[in-house]
Amino acid sequence: MKFISIVLVLLFGPHNFDSQTLMSQSEVQALWKEYAQRGDVLVSDIRPKFRRVLDSHDKARESGLEYQFIVTGNTNAFARPDGHTIITSSFLQIIDSMATVMSAAQTFNKPACLGSYIEYLAAGTRENSRLVVHKHQPKPVAMAFGYWQINPSVCGGLSEAAFRSNKKADDLRELMIYASVIYLIGHEFAHHKYHDDEFTEVTPEQRQLHIAQGLDVSREVIPSEQVIKEQRADLFAFHKMIEMDYPPLAAMPVLVFFLGLEGYSPEQSINADHPAAVVRFSDMISTTEGDSEFQELIHQHNLDQQWAQFVLFGKQLQAEQ
Ligand SMILES: [Zn+2]
Repeated sequence: MKFISIVLVLLFGPHNFDSQTLMSQSEVQALWKEYAQRGDVLVSDIRPKFRRVLDSHDKARESGLEYQFIVTGNTNAFARPDGHTIITSSFLQIIDSMATVMSAAQTFNKPACLGSYIEYLAAGTRENSRLVVHKHQPKPVAMAFGYWQINPSVCGGLSEAAFRSNKKADDLRELMIYASVIYLIGHEFAHHKYHDDEFTEVTPEQRQLHIAQGLDVSREVIPSEQVIKEQRADLFAFHKMIEMDYPPLAAMPVLVFFLGLEGYSPEQSINADHPAAVVRFSDMISTTEGDSEFQELIHQHNLDQQWAQFVLFGKQLQAEQ
């Protein structure tokens, strides 16, 4: 996926929040190790279910893959040409936090809390990425439970205890985490399947130079071509989610996080190698509207209503432009 590399270092813990005490480096590392272990458990659970919706050729390909959660503050997921799908532990942490806030927003009717958290998380990650690039120390960014405590004006009444004692909220969160990981697995699998992972990204200028030098450019990809590969991977992932009875809507923690990070803008920098999240949504919707097989699949799996909500959400985002 190689979404955008973003850095989240020195996160506040998911438990008691105290603005005076940051987590130490070793505590942060321990937390990320926990997320990596949790990711391993999720992937082991999802893989056999994912294989069931693959054809025999893809099944064999998937069986040969290895999945690895790496312990880092760099939020990322990508397919490596040696057959590894890499997901970072802090990516899972972000998914967890986003799923928590989204689930709370829905269960306890706190949409403003979700909106402010998306902006807060995006601003924090953008700022940390900038700081790290300039060799400065990144700043702490609060995860869901900590954020509720520091922002009572919009998230008042929400607490970790109240959240955990509400089974509906907790179940919805787990569903969204699970579905988000299915989406990541499906998206990265498509990159392996189509050998997208064997290409090196270059700028159009670099490619021109390589051609002039008589070099082999058959394994080079420029950003505008990469965007098409990303759309194909998204479509594949959503197809497989539906076949597994998971509505694409449930993968919102991943997509909404990137929407926030991009400031809800569909504009891409000239070297953007992934379609902006808003573009991903609108492409997704227009592609599926014309794809009778996809529509039939949604209908068969009784996901018409969830799909309609997903489409509505995408249209609302476009309307906000
Ligand atoms: Zn990708």
